[in-house]
Amino acid sequence: MFRGNWVNRSIKRVILILVVLSVGGIIYYLYDQAQEQDQAQVSSEPEATSTGEAEIEAPVEDEVSFDIKMCESGTIITEEQLNRKDIAVYFQSDPIEGEVLERISGRSYVDNPNISLADLRYLKVLHYNFEHQTQVGELIVNAALADEYKDIFRELFEAEYEINSMHLIDDYWTGDAAESDTASIEANNTSAFCYRVITGGESLSNHAYGCAIDINPQQNPYLSYFTGVPVWSHPNADQYIDRTTGYGHVITHEDVCYQIFTAHGFTWGGDWSNPKDYQHFEKTLE
Ligand SMILES: [Zn+2]
Repeated sequence: MFRGNWVNRSIKRVILILVVLSVGGIIYYLYDQAQEQDQAQVSSEPEATSTGEAEIEAPVEDEVSFDIKMCESGTIITEEQLNRKDIAVYFQSDPIEGEVLERISGRSYVDNPNISLADLRYLKVLHYNFEHQTQVGELIVNAALADEYKDIFRELFEAEYEINSMHLIDDYWTGDAAESDTASIEANNTSAFCYRVITGGESLSNHAYGCAIDINPQQNPYLSYFTGVPVWSHPNADQYIDRTTGYGHVITHEDVCYQIFTAHGFTWGGDWSNPKDYQHFEKTLE
């Protein structure tokens, strides 16, 4: 019995030692694996750094998606082309030179003692057209008002104000300034500069200084009241003589176009008593 007990205890001890060794071995194995994983993570850190570099390059998305100076007036801009985070880049002003100078020389601009080319600027802007698409527009204005015009057209764009088209009046040139103005109005075109006299008079118009602009002339006609009743020249304006219809693109005191121009110190021809020129906004130079 004694010897048997001793053998039993010896076997138990051996089993216990084997169990302890096995558990120790398993613990060591797990510890070793954990160490290897840590080292793997450390060695993957350079990859994390390269991800960081990719993030630094992200502002590429904020770059100008197209150069408005390269787009002809009337070009439609898709929503994918437009970077709405920085729309100020789509409102640009340049001196009159190159192709623009060729287009206007002997047409809307002639040699004169009142305004020089250096007093004028060529603007490219974005606007919504009557189909509510984003479209490129152009206009020539007085250099002293160029920044103000850029702000106004940016605000009109942000308000999603619709303008049918904005091409230089030279695109409608007939050989005569007054007739060309008529042709531009018939096309419901918005324009600013033209070296010409006032409608029905002999003195220079504020358009001749780039200080006046005509917006959507079909919906906003020029009315004279010399006979007591309104008289207008363009049949395409017949349904817009009544200013209370609520039709689209009709400028009233409630219209955002009126509100933005007057907030920038412009006066409105719709506030004159005779004639009433609903398309016309102008600003006197200081
Ligand atoms: Zn006008």
